[in-house]
Amino acid sequence: MKIAFIGLGNMGGGMAANLVKAGHQVNAFDLAEQARSAAKDAGCEVFHDLKEAVQDVEAVVSMLPNGGIVKAVYENDVIGHAPAGAILLDCSTIDVATAKEVTEAATKSGYEMVDAPVSGGIAAANGGTLTFMVGGTESAFARAEPILQGMGKAVIRAGDAGAGQTAKICNNMLLAVHMIGTCEAMKMAEKLGLDPQKFYEISSQSSGSNWSLNTYTPLPGVGAQSPADNDYQGGFATALMLKDLRLAMEAAENSDSAVPLSSRAASLYEDYSGAGNGALDFSSIIKTY
Ligand code: NAD
Repeated sequence: MKIAFIGLGNMGGGMAANLVKAGHQVNAFDLAEQARSAAKDAGCEVFHDLKEAVQDVEAVVSMLPNGGIVKAVYENDVIGHAPAGAILLDCSTIDVATAKEVTEAATKSGYEMVDAPVSGGIAAANGGTLTFMVGGTESAFARAEPILQGMGKAVIRAGDAGAGQTAKICNNMLLAVHMIGTCEAMKMAEKLGLDPQKFYEISSQSSGSNWSLNTYTPLPGVGAQSPADNDYQGGFATALMLKDLRLAMEAAENSDSAVPLSSRAASLYEDYSGAGNGALDFSSIIKTY
């Protein structure tokens, strides 16, 4: 297929390269010269004008920083410029309301569109092992699925437009809560005189077992190999967790959902990120205990 890819950053660069490896012809566009030149090296055809990049493609994939940019890019340069009948896939993490709004605008102009945010970080984007959670009609999903499979290990339809973003922010909200809970329990066990490795052995096989404890253990030298063992470099940056928590808090307010634990987790990550720790892996919040 001929596919336009917009946003060739940390995530999008590897994703576009995997589409080339999967046999697609990729028209690549980014505002940054460095991103464009890496895409060229990966076998993409690079464009300096987005309207030109989408002109004769069968699909458009985007991986952009936020909802405002996604809305502007689709409304100004994609809708009405990509051929009628092209399938549109936005893989960025954005707010549910904007995802629905952009899909509605695309649908009105005769396109099918899905929101398809991802789980998995830069390594999964480069390795083609992302999990995609997809919102859109069954017909849009059927067209998007084979394209997403070229970049991921799992492609799951969550429901209609916006459902992919809903799944993503609810998942990451839960992740923040069990990471913080895990940090608190591990540090308290330690203060009470229990060897943290013993706590890990017991709790990871007991009812306190959870992903943060079992496979992303936040204490260095304890439990599973994780960013903690690499001085909290790499992994999932605190600033990105905070971005997702802000989206989750906005969605909670819009849907009148009670989220007392998650809102506390969000404010702990606000403070921690604001103290200059945004670039560190999100499990490093254990250092505040
Ligand atoms: P990034 O900042 O590395 O990349 C974004 C790219 O978009 C940049 O290259 C930037 O130049 C480009 N861009 C910005 N505005 C543009 C425009 N108007 N037109 C064209 N290009 C434009 O960000 P990232 O880490 O690749 O994240 C992208 C998305 O993926 C975000 O929504 C993020 O929340 C989500 N995400 C990231 C991770 C991660 O681990 N990095 C994991 C899951 C989801």
